[in-house]
Amino acid sequence: MPGGNSTFDLVIIGGGPGGYTAAIRAAHLGIKTALVEKDKVGGTCLHWGCIPTKVLLHSADLYTRFLRAKEFGIIVDKVEISYTQLHRRKEDVVNRLFHGVQFLLKKNRVEVFQGEGHILSPNSVLVKKDETDVHRITAKNIILATGSVPSIPSNIPHESNYVLTSNDILLSKEIPKSIIIAGGGAVGIEFAYLFNILGSRVTILELFDEILPAEDKEISSTLRKIFHKRGIEIRTNTSLEKVTIDNGVVVEIKRKDGILPSPTATGNQEFIKADQLLLALGRNPALTNIGIEKLPLTYQGKYLQTSEVMETSQSGIFAIGDITGPPLLAHKAFHQGTRAVSYLAGKETTPMNYQSIPAVTYCSPQVASIGLTQEEAEKRGHKIRIGKFPLLANSKAIIDGEFEDGFFKIISDDKYGEILGVHALGHNVGELMWGMSLASILEGTASELTDVIFPHPTLSEAILEAAHAVIDKPIHV
Ligand SMILES: Cc1cc2nc3c(=O)[nH]c(=O)nc-3n(C[C@H](O)[C@H](O)[C@H](O)COP(=O)(O)OP(=O)(O)OC[C@H]3O[C@@H](n4cnc5c(N)ncnc54)[C@H](O)[C@@H]3O)c2cc1C
Repeated sequence: MPGGNSTFDLVIIGGGPGGYTAAIRAAHLGIKTALVEKDKVGGTCLHWGCIPTKVLLHSADLYTRFLRAKEFGIIVDKVEISYTQLHRRKEDVVNRLFHGVQFLLKKNRVEVFQGEGHILSPNSVLVKKDETDVHRITAKNIILATGSVPSIPSNIPHESNYVLTSNDILLSKEIPKSIIIAGGGAVGIEFAYLFNILGSRVTILELFDEILPAEDKEISSTLRKIFHKRGIEIRTNTSLEKVTIDNGVVVEIKRKDGILPSPTATGNQEFIKADQLLLALGRNPALTNIGIEKLPLTYQGKYLQTSEVMETSQSGIFAIGDITGPPLLAHKAFHQGTRAVSYLAGKETTPMNYQSIPAVTYCSPQVASIGLTQEEAEKRGHKIRIGKFPLLANSKAIIDGEFEDGFFKIISDDKYGEILGVHALGHNVGELMWGMSLASILEGTASELTDVIFPHPTLSEAILEAAHAVIDKPIHV
């Protein structure tokens, strides 16, 4: 609908997981909704994040399994990677899901406006496709869902052949011989795992003293040992200082604690070389050029602050997804979107429960968690009980040949038995985390988990065993 004016109940700016979910749900609830998207509905998650990365990681996983085919009684002549086909499949999966989201929006009669959304007032949004195609939408409410963009330090040259963001690397059709990954969070770790499998020499630089610093220390230090055994070099307590591009990259790094990083280093400073540098240093909320400067919004650091039902400090304007701060996860955005429109529809709305959001890092073995880490629980003064169960004693993990180093760890409150956190390392453990979210929402205890009947043989039994371990002893060790 080029040019003109229209009136809706709700206008949503940004069609990523937060925005498109909110739009579909709003339509279900009878709210007349416009969705404004400047690029493609599905957002970062579908086009640059969750989906394309997991397609690549899935192939990497399959490849390592094929290499072990003989162990499983399968004779395979030759196992090779075709990176071109891997990319083709990635595009196919993304397109299929993209068409799915477009279809759902259409089916639910959400009107999608292609263009850049800009707030003019608390009740109107300008959509600009180009200089000649400008549309004005008037609505009772606005939801901001503009997501986030990769963070690039101002002193680092961004040159998409050598110094890449996660977006750039998803477009790159060549496997680098060597790659330095700045940032040992979930995104950095997934790419480190992928390129190690693909045969690149991988170095991870992490500012904190452990990779995956937000995870339970026992989990991240075990993963670090696994990665180390696979030949991934991990430099913790290390900052990225400077980058020079010279037919590859020369990266200046510094140890935070002044410890000599290697025998070839001068002081605590060192230069390392690689074909490429991937910047996985976090993301910034996409809040510029959307017309919010004139609104009395409150912030928490660089993110927008909202109420439990996602309303900002400007009545009638809501914010969901990455712009509301960590955890920057698609399922958090989905959930915030449905909370906000449920509230707008006048329904009884359960507020966001940030303690019950699972996080998964999709390397192999996977890292999955919910709630407090052991360190956080102790810091908050909880007297805790810990139950652990190793996957080498879980029948399904043994059947799958995926048990080494894996374990489940449940942290519960000593006094009331409430589950404070669950942490897991193992093949596909992320699939089990919805159950832990349910336990967390119901304020379940380890004792209640031991009343649950888990099917046998499944990986999920490791949760039951860890719950037994919280109380007294697991059965199978
Ligand atoms: C490499 C990578 C891997 C990831 N893997 C996972 C994962 O496995 N699981 C997970 O849960 N999360 C993952 N994430 C995070 C996830 O992608 C984000 O948390 C999620 O996409 C946030 O959703 P959102 O709706 O807030 O924003 P986005 O997905 O960023 O969508 C925002 C949308 O708004 C549009 N937009 C912005 N400004 C305007 C404007 N002014 N007008 C119109 N449109 C606008 C953008 O074009 C975009 O489409 C990953 C992220 C990355 C980078």
